[in-house]
Amino acid sequence: MNLDELYQEVILDHYKNPRGVGLRDPYEGESHQVNPTCGDEITLRVHLEGDKVADVSYDNVGCSISKASASVMYELLDGVDIATAQERLDEFNTLMSSKGQGEANEETLEDGVAFAGVSKYPMRVKCALLGWMAFKDALIKAQATDNDNSESAANPHGGVQ
Ligand code: ZN
Repeated sequence: MNLDELYQEVILDHYKNPRGVGLRDPYEGESHQVNPTCGDEITLRVHLEGDKVADVSYDNVGCSISKASASVMYELLDGVDIATAQERLDEFNTLMSSKGQGEANEETLEDGVAFAGVSKYPMRVKCALLGWMAFKDALIKAQATDNDNSESAANPHGGVQ
Protein backbone atom coordinates (compact mmCIF):
# COMPACT_ATOMS: atom_id res chain seq x y z
CA MET A 1 0.00 0.00 0.00
CA ASN A 2 1.53 3.34 -1.02
CA LEU A 3 1.02 6.62 0.82
CA ASP A 4 -1.83 7.82 -1.43
CA GLU A 5 -3.72 4.59 -0.83
CA LEU A 6 -3.12 4.83 2.89
CA TYR A 7 -4.46 8.40 2.91
CA GLN A 8 -7.50 7.27 0.92
CA GLU A 9 -8.14 4.64 3.58
CA VAL A 10 -7.88 7.22 6.37
CA ILE A 11 -10.34 9.54 4.60
CA LEU A 12 -12.74 6.69 3.88
CA ASP A 13 -12.63 5.54 7.49
CA HIS A 14 -13.52 9.02 8.80
CA TYR A 15 -16.28 9.29 6.18
CA LYS A 16 -17.81 5.96 7.19
CA ASN A 17 -17.27 6.39 10.93
CA PRO A 18 -17.44 10.12 11.65
CA ARG A 19 -16.07 11.07 15.08
CA GLY A 20 -18.12 13.34 17.32
CA VAL A 21 -21.00 13.82 14.85
CA GLY A 22 -24.33 15.26 16.05
CA LEU A 23 -25.34 18.65 17.47
CA ARG A 24 -25.01 18.94 21.23
CA ASP A 25 -25.84 21.34 24.06
CA PRO A 26 -24.57 23.44 25.66
CA TYR A 27 -22.83 25.70 23.16
CA GLU A 28 -21.96 29.39 22.90
CA GLY A 29 -21.30 29.73 19.17
CA GLU A 30 -22.93 28.17 16.12
CA SER A 31 -22.07 28.48 12.44
CA HIS A 32 -23.70 27.26 9.25
CA GLN A 33 -21.45 27.01 6.20
CA VAL A 34 -22.28 26.02 2.65
CA ASN A 35 -20.01 25.02 -0.22
CA PRO A 36 -22.32 25.63 -3.19
CA THR A 37 -19.92 24.26 -5.82
CA CYS A 38 -20.15 20.79 -4.29
CA GLY A 39 -23.35 20.91 -2.25
CA ASP A 40 -21.64 20.41 1.11
CA GLU A 41 -23.28 21.91 4.20
CA ILE A 42 -22.37 21.93 7.86
CA THR A 43 -23.85 23.29 11.05
CA LEU A 44 -21.27 23.39 13.81
CA ARG A 45 -21.39 24.34 17.49
CA VAL A 46 -18.57 25.27 19.83
CA HIS A 47 -18.79 24.93 23.58
CA LEU A 48 -16.09 26.69 25.59
CA GLU A 49 -15.11 26.17 29.20
CA GLY A 50 -12.66 28.88 30.19
CA ASP A 51 -9.88 28.78 27.59
CA LYS A 52 -10.68 25.21 26.56
CA VAL A 53 -12.70 23.91 23.63
CA ALA A 54 -14.95 21.65 25.68
CA ASP A 55 -17.01 20.36 22.75
CA VAL A 56 -17.22 20.66 18.98
CA SER A 57 -20.46 19.22 17.65
CA TYR A 58 -21.69 19.22 14.09
CA ASP A 59 -24.23 17.96 11.62
CA ASN A 60 -23.31 17.83 7.94
CA VAL A 61 -24.24 16.62 4.50
CA GLY A 62 -21.97 16.41 1.49
CA CYS A 63 -19.14 14.60 -0.17
CA SER A 64 -16.70 12.18 1.43
CA ILE A 65 -13.91 14.80 1.61
CA SER A 66 -16.05 17.35 3.48
CA LYS A 67 -17.46 14.77 5.87
CA ALA A 68 -14.12 13.09 6.56
CA SER A 69 -12.47 16.46 7.12
CA ALA A 70 -15.09 17.47 9.69
CA SER A 71 -14.47 14.21 11.55
CA VAL A 72 -10.69 14.79 11.57
CA MET A 73 -11.29 18.37 12.72
CA TYR A 74 -13.32 17.08 15.65
CA GLU A 75 -10.48 14.77 16.68
CA LEU A 76 -7.91 17.55 16.47
CA LEU A 77 -9.88 20.38 18.13
CA ASP A 78 -12.17 18.78 20.69
CA GLY A 79 -10.83 19.12 24.22
CA VAL A 80 -7.77 21.24 23.43
CA ASP A 81 -7.20 24.81 24.59
CA ILE A 82 -8.24 27.64 22.29
CA ALA A 83 -4.66 28.61 21.41
CA THR A 84 -3.86 25.04 20.31
CA ALA A 85 -7.08 24.86 18.30
CA GLN A 86 -6.12 28.08 16.49
CA GLU A 87 -2.62 26.75 15.77
CA ARG A 88 -4.05 23.56 14.28
CA LEU A 89 -6.58 25.55 12.28
CA ASP A 90 -3.76 27.67 10.84
CA GLU A 91 -1.65 24.61 10.14
CA PHE A 92 -4.43 22.79 8.31
CA ASN A 93 -5.23 25.97 6.35
CA THR A 94 -1.58 26.30 5.34
CA LEU A 95 -1.45 22.66 4.25
CA MET A 96 -4.61 23.04 2.17
CA SER A 97 -3.21 26.20 0.54
CA SER A 98 0.00 24.40 -0.45
CA LYS A 99 -1.20 23.08 -3.85
CA GLY A 100 0.27 19.69 -3.10
CA GLN A 101 3.66 21.06 -2.00
CA GLY A 102 3.02 21.25 1.74
CA GLU A 103 4.96 19.33 4.35
CA ALA A 104 2.39 17.83 6.68
CA ASN A 105 3.42 17.29 10.28
CA GLU A 106 1.84 14.10 11.50
CA GLU A 107 2.57 14.90 15.15
CA THR A 108 0.32 17.94 15.15
CA LEU A 109 -2.11 17.20 12.30
CA GLU A 110 -2.48 13.44 12.89
CA ASP A 111 -5.06 12.13 10.37
CA GLY A 112 -5.19 15.63 8.85
CA VAL A 113 -2.05 14.75 6.87
CA ALA A 114 -4.26 12.49 4.74
CA PHE A 115 -5.62 15.65 3.08
CA ALA A 116 -2.21 16.79 1.82
CA GLY A 117 -2.95 15.37 -1.65
CA VAL A 118 -6.37 17.06 -1.72
CA SER A 119 -4.60 20.44 -1.73
CA LYS A 120 -3.75 19.88 -5.41
CA TYR A 121 -7.42 20.23 -6.35
CA PRO A 122 -8.89 23.71 -5.72
CA MET A 123 -12.50 22.48 -5.86
CA ARG A 124 -11.75 19.82 -3.26
CA VAL A 125 -9.87 22.24 -1.01
CA LYS A 126 -13.17 24.04 -0.38
CA CYS A 127 -14.72 20.73 0.65
CA ALA A 128 -11.86 19.94 3.03
CA LEU A 129 -11.89 23.40 4.63
CA LEU A 130 -15.65 23.78 5.11
CA GLY A 131 -15.83 22.30 8.61
CA TRP A 132 -12.72 24.19 9.70
CA MET A 133 -14.22 27.47 8.48
CA ALA A 134 -17.37 26.67 10.44
CA PHE A 135 -15.25 26.10 13.55
CA LYS A 136 -13.41 29.39 13.07
CA ASP A 137 -16.69 31.29 12.71
CA ALA A 138 -18.40 29.51 15.63
CA LEU A 139 -15.36 30.13 17.86
CA ILE A 140 -15.47 33.89 17.14
CA LYS A 141 -19.18 33.92 18.01
CA ALA A 142 -18.60 31.87 21.16
CA GLN A 143 -15.87 34.26 22.32
CA ALA A 144 -18.13 37.26 21.62
CA THR A 145 -20.86 35.60 23.68
CA ASP A 146 -18.40 35.10 26.52
CA ASN A 147 -17.57 38.82 26.47
CA ASP A 148 -21.23 39.79 26.47
CA ASN A 149 -21.77 37.57 29.46
CA SER A 150 -19.00 39.11 31.51
CA GLU A 151 -20.20 42.64 30.71
CA SER A 152 -23.81 42.01 31.67
CA ALA A 153 -22.79 39.48 34.27
CA ALA A 154 -25.92 39.49 36.43
CA ASN A 155 -27.94 36.96 34.48
CA PRO A 156 -26.11 36.03 31.27
CA HIS A 157 -28.13 32.95 30.38
CA GLY A 158 -31.57 34.36 31.08
CA GLY A 159 -32.31 31.83 33.80
CA VAL A 160 -34.27 32.36 36.99
CA GLN A 161 -32.56 34.74 39.38
ZN1 ZN B 1 -17.50 18.46 -1.34
